[in-house]
Amino acid sequence: MPTTGREVSLYFHIPFCSKKCPYCHFFVLPNEERYKTPFLTALLQEWALRLPQLHGKRVVSIYFGGGTPTKLSPDHYALLLGAMRNAGIEIAPDCEITLEANPEDVTLPLMQQFSALGINRVSLGVQSLLDADLTFLGRTHNVSASTRALLATHEAGIPNISMDLLFELPHQTLSTFERSLAALKGLPFTHLSLYNLTIEPHTVFFKKKQALEAVLPPDEERLHMLELAFVTLSELGLERYEISAFARPGYISRHNSGYWLGRPFMGFGPSAFSYWEGARFSNTTRFNHYLDSVKEGQLPVAFTETLPYPSNLQELFAVRLRLVQGIDLAAFTACHGMLPQSVWESVDKLVTQGLLIHTEDNVRLTPRGQLFYDTVASELI
Ligand code: SF4
Repeated sequence: MPTTGREVSLYFHIPFCSKKCPYCHFFVLPNEERYKTPFLTALLQEWALRLPQLHGKRVVSIYFGGGTPTKLSPDHYALLLGAMRNAGIEIAPDCEITLEANPEDVTLPLMQQFSALGINRVSLGVQSLLDADLTFLGRTHNVSASTRALLATHEAGIPNISMDLLFELPHQTLSTFERSLAALKGLPFTHLSLYNLTIEPHTVFFKKKQALEAVLPPDEERLHMLELAFVTLSELGLERYEISAFARPGYISRHNSGYWLGRPFMGFGPSAFSYWEGARFSNTTRFNHYLDSVKEGQLPVAFTETLPYPSNLQELFAVRLRLVQGIDLAAFTACHGMLPQSVWESVDKLVTQGLLIHTEDNVRLTPRGQLFYDTVASELI
């Protein structure tokens, strides 16, 4: 997964959803037509404002996330992609272009239109392959919609299909998770992201946090779930390449890898995050403020942070450790400079605890370290 100084990624936040899921903490808007034209106009204005920073760069991945990007039409994406392709910037010929999709929106003709626009990767919000889990999560699709969506995307000729799965759900047991995993067999996907459900503030689930936490699977069962997922996915031909990501050979996500490798990315749309020239910043989550700012020629940034040395390197080091291949120490030093002594002291401690392996030219997580990554990260940062 090499990355060069000129390579960058783009992220577009498409906020529309037909209903807000009870666990969701993302910025979303109701799926109403009256918001869409102002939103697209503003997105194109923001694009024009940020464009000068992209000259001299090479765009290697574009990601439409949300929200539910499939609430915009192929015509909307033709407009956005057309603006990018006619902007006089370098877009790699093999640029990975991902569209997140909710299963209930997917049809064969729709996917054929997206494919014709150059979208070469679809990430489906499958979440679980058990209807009872989907009902609990307040999702608007069921398992047969997910299956149909996967088959239609594949039939449309989109070569790279990812799916999100959630685990560590309240009421989930090893046996229900096993049934969900078993249903993956035979489905045409190339990549899978496995997330544990977190109960975030400002969500419906947060109001019931205590009651939900009381019915979470116990710690030991959660470890068994993870182990079961690794074994099942490996049997299906997907290798774990990052703490929560699995891919068939040749299908590692270029966009997601950029986050772990420290590749700069620029985010567009309300609430979108960016990491650019060593600074992290995020756009406003107030929709009208977003529209007004870009209309007046102002970047809609609400928060900026530049970590000082050595915190910046500690964080880069910890994030890159998420990759199973670990860190090539010579390449890391050449790119970012010398690591502070405190990192080496933490590495020694984590090696002693059996969480890291440190060889002459590489540091990486042990299998136990992969299970307890949060412990590793908090020791390093
Ligand atoms: S579909 Fe996704 S973005 Fe929309 S509310 Fe549900 S979890 Fe949030």
